[in-house]
Parts: sequence; structure tokens; C-alpha cells
Amino acid sequence: MNALEDVLYRYWGFNSFRPLQKEIIESVLNGRDTVALMPTGGGKSLCFQVPSLASDGICIVISPLVALMQDQVRGLEEKGIKAINLSGGISFNDLQMLLDNALYGNYKFIYLSPERLQQDIVQNYIRMMNVNLIAIDEAHCISQWGNDFRPAYKNIVLLRKLQPLTPFLALTATATPKVLEDTIRELKLELPQIFKQSFVRSNLAYKVQTEPDKIYCTSQLLKDNPGAAIVYVRNRKATIDIAEQLNVYGLRADFYHGGLSAEEKRSKLEAWQRGKINTIVATSAFGMGIDHPHVRYVIHLQLPESLESYFQEVGRAGRDGEYAEGILLYDKFDDKQVAYQFIANLPTTSDLKFIYRKLSSYLQIAYGEGQNIQYQFNFSDFVKKHKLNSILTYNALKGMDRLGILELSEQFTKKTILKFVGSSSELLRYFERDMRISVIGKSILRLYAGISELPLSVDLEFISSKTGQSVDDILSILKRMHEDGVIELQHVATDASITYLVPREDDRTISKIAAEFERLNKIKVKQVQAMIEYVHNTTTCRTVQLVNYFGEKYKTPCGICSVCTAKNKNKVKVNQQVLAEEILSVLKEKAVTSKELVTFLPFPETAILNTLKLLLDNELIRLTDNNELYISK
Ligand code: ADP
Ligand code: MG
Repeated sequence: MNALEDVLYRYWGFNSFRPLQKEIIESVLNGRDTVALMPTGGGKSLCFQVPSLASDGICIVISPLVALMQDQVRGLEEKGIKAINLSGGISFNDLQMLLDNALYGNYKFIYLSPERLQQDIVQNYIRMMNVNLIAIDEAHCISQWGNDFRPAYKNIVLLRKLQPLTPFLALTATATPKVLEDTIRELKLELPQIFKQSFVRSNLAYKVQTEPDKIYCTSQLLKDNPGAAIVYVRNRKATIDIAEQLNVYGLRADFYHGGLSAEEKRSKLEAWQRGKINTIVATSAFGMGIDHPHVRYVIHLQLPESLESYFQEVGRAGRDGEYAEGILLYDKFDDKQVAYQFIANLPTTSDLKFIYRKLSSYLQIAYGEGQNIQYQFNFSDFVKKHKLNSILTYNALKGMDRLGILELSEQFTKKTILKFVGSSSELLRYFERDMRISVIGKSILRLYAGISELPLSVDLEFISSKTGQSVDDILSILKRMHEDGVIELQHVATDASITYLVPREDDRTISKIAAEFERLNKIKVKQVQAMIEYVHNTTTCRTVQLVNYFGEKYKTPCGICSVCTAKNKNKVKVNQQVLAEEILSVLKEKAVTSKELVTFLPFPETAILNTLKLLLDNELIRLTDNNELYISK
């Protein structure tokens, strides 16, 4: 066994590399800039993890998703591999400590977001490190032509200066030719070796099915499903309603959407991965990082916004290589619906300006302020208060997120807000009644300056760490203080948080991104159109349509998609004459049942039964009382 296979087996227990993994690994080990283009689930992570383990030094991994980085770092740590995650809220002191560890502690991986790279301290440390590889996951995020453009990805090129001799490995699953070209240019890759795995998935049958009663149809498709399934729907409410309806049909279904708490998400995902739940009804929030090999069906109840999204979502089926189906259930209202949701409600620049102002005042951010501060945000309350169109508003926030004005994170959280009332001498007298009240009350006053003047949000975990009291105890003491009238206590639930990435400067802020924003809108329109065309094209094999869209010149019909099977059905009709003759020649020998015929003849059961029906109808053959067929004379 050679060194690379050895690493693969030692840490992962896998016996062999998947297609292209080894070529990619060897390319980066030779010091070449490299592009790895592989479909979702193709095994991209190993392409940077194995070479780093096989050489000296540390690998820097840039990734856009905090949750994904957490998962990967946890996964590596479980294997006894030293990895550090620099994403998420980290205090300056902690950051310095982590960077020290990375520099002196024999770590093999350091994961960070592109935003983190902006900090001087991070750059200074990276300059000193012995970096063996710079891996850029979801590298297409650097391209403005792509679906997931992240302005901060432009920071990545800065690593070239810090580590001029270290190769770059760009990894992505979504790359139309234009995006790929753009990605290579923007990352300033030098004569990169490009490895592209075919996007053809020969075990995955893509189907588009016109269906007026989509939910009933879904229940029928899934009722005997031995593996897992994902049903994609468009909004959060639908996930709940449809999961419930599928349960009525006897499926073990649950729902999943971006508004759930991290804990709920984790437990639902785990129940599904363990087979306690068969079917997850989800929004597109059920996405990156979902790893389940035995998904037999991915069903879409509405059209996704683009073929890029569709391909990613449907691609979660059949990762084990066994036959799986991706079924898009379609009805005649869908074209209008998708156009309404994604095109009619695309905000204009002036919408953006309007919503940005409203948002800033809703969050009480003063002009010139707000940068790098995270605000809890209740989307439906905001929309209601300002009588805004919710789809348009959502699209506007998403747009601002993509263009680096703010970061929208859709996560459910509960928050505790409180304010002290009464003079300080009154408070101190009150505190004397109970030691624990005193400890907690005083430490809150110490930790949150100004909490006697205005309500502030407090972090119960933080107070717990300072006082040594449990969160539950703190909460019950706060409730008592509230009843005694010394504090005003509020619990607020929010379904999102917003971090302003640049200071609020009203129209100036928006004007800077206006041109870019309108260009992105145009791309959006094109993508929706491509999605609609795909649905309506019932003459070209679905695999061929999809991979051609992603720039692959490929023409061989897959034979299993809804277009191919419809064509094959017609072929059987043409051959009905042949089949009829075969049947008659069997029956000439002896009378048999239709079941026996099906086992004798090398034709599909439905074709045989159809032909039998034709022969019976024309009285060329008849049935005995024992249901045996014979030739009528
Ligand atoms: P991607 O990033 O391309 O979507 P991942 O890196 O998350 O894919 O890998 C998907 C799954 O494939 C993971 O469960 C991983 O452990 C598995 N995998 C990757 N390479 C191999 C291999 N050589 N043999 C077996 N399983 C593999
Ligand atoms: Mg990946």
C-alpha cells in the first residue's frame, strides 16, 4: 500500500480512492494549483485532508459555512487529528490563543471564513505558519456569475502574498463554464490543473411528472420506500403542513427548516440518519453538510429557483450508488408560481434603499454606526410593522447579504432582556434578603453597564459562567426579581439575526452595490427561465439536459429518466407485433397463465400484459376457468 492509501485507510477506514481523488491529491502534493470539480457527495473534503496528513505543515481551509466548518473540525478531532476552527464569534484573546496553537501546536488544519482573513492578527500569524496547502471549499463563491457569490471571497487572494509558495486547491460542485473561468481568474490560480468529474449520475433517475395531487402522489411513491427520502417544499409553513399530511398517510415524516434551533436541527437530522424517521420535508435549508448515503427519493413539490439548486438538492439521492429517483412533481400553476416568487418580487435598487432604511431604524442603528454588531431580528414582526411585501423584503435582505452589506442568519433563538428599576440603595437593600439573589443581581449590574437605565439583552450562559449558578437557577431568580418589581424581564424569541458588515449610510451604502445588484437580478431571471425550460423539454434525456447545462458535452441518453422511459414505452408499442407473435408461439405449445408468460418471455411485464389484453380483446386468445391462456381456433 502506498502512503496515500495508507492515510486513507488509517483515518477513514476506506480501501480505495474515488474517481479523481488521487489525481487531485497528487497534483497538490506536486505543488500545483489545482481545481477539483466534483458533484456534491463526490468526496471533495478528502482531496485536501489526505495530502495535508501525508505531509508536514498545516492546511488552511477556507469555507463559507460556519456550521460546515464546525462539523468538519469535529469529525477530524474524532479521528485524533488536530484541527482548529476560527469561525464564529471569538474574542480577541481567544483568537490569539487559537492562532498560537495553530502556529506552535502541530495542528494539521485550520478552518476559517473569508471574513476572518481580514483581521491583521490572522494574517500575521498565517505568514509565520508552515502551510502545506490552501484549500478553498465552495470556490465558486468568488464568482459574481454564480449563485452563491460572497464578496468576502475576494479576500482569499491575499493568502498568495502571505504564502507565496503554497499551492491553492479550489473545490466546487457548481461550475458552469463561465463560473469556472471566473473562479480561476479571481483566485489568480497559476496554470492550474483542472480535474473535472463527470456530473453524470448513472444510478439517479431524474423524473418530471405532471401531477395535480402532489401530496397524495408523494405518499404513494414513498409508502414502500425502504430507504430515506427528502421532500423539498418552498416555505417553512409548508414543511410542517405537508409532513403532517404524509404522517396521516402512514409515512414516518418530520419537517425541517432554517427557523429551527440548532438543537432541533441536530436531533431531526440524527433521527433521519438513524432511520427513526423516513422522510424529511424541508426547505432548501436542508442542504450543505447533509450526509446520508441511502436516500432513495428526492421529491420536489415546487420548482426550485435554478437548475444549480435543483441539481444540488436532487443530488442528495443515491449517494450509495444504488438506484434512486429524483422526482419533480409539476402542475400547471408552477411556472406562474416560480415566476411570482423569484422574478415578480425581485427588488429594485429603490426597494433596496427603502428596506435598508426601514431595517436600520427597526434595529435602532444610528447613521454611521452598526458595523460588525449582531442584532436579533424577527422577520415577520418587521414585515408587519412596516406593512412590507414579505417575499420582496426577504429577497432584498438576501441580496444585501450576498453583496456584503449585512449577514442574515436564519436561526431561531430565545433572548432574555432585562432592566433594573429603583435606586441603587433600594436594590442593595433588596439584595440583602438572599445570598443568591445578591450574587446574581450584583454580577449582572457589573457585567452590563447601563442596565439600570435601559433594557439590555443578557447572556444567561455567560452569567452562569461568572456566578457558578446554573442557567435554570438564574432564570428562576430573575423571575422572582421580576415578581418583586426590582427588574423588568422580557423573553423575546427571534427567528433570525442580522450583522451589519458596513456602517449604516442609507442610500450611499446601497448605491455602492446597485450596479452589481441589478446584474445579479438579471442572472436570477435567466436561471428561473432555464429551470422552466428544463421542465418543459420532454424530448431530450434529463441527464443530458442537466450535464449540458453545466458545460459537459455529453449525449448518451441515460435510459432511466422520465424522458427516456417514455420513449422506451413507445418502442415497446412498435414491437407489439413481435411480442404478440412470441406469445402466440408459446401458447401454441400449451396453455399457460399470464404469470407464467411473464416469467417465460424476456419482455417487460407491462408490455406483456398490454399485448395480452389486446389479443384477448380481439379474441385471438381466450382464458380457461383456471385463468390459463389458450389460442382460440
Ligand atoms: P463533497 O464535499 O464532494 O460533497 P464529501 O467530502 O462531503 O463530499 O464526501 C461525501 C461522502 O463520501 C463522505 O461521507 C465521505 O466520507 C465519503 N467518501 C469520500 N471519499 C471516499 C472514499 N474514497 N471511499 C469511501 N467514501 C468516501
Ligand atoms: Mg464539501
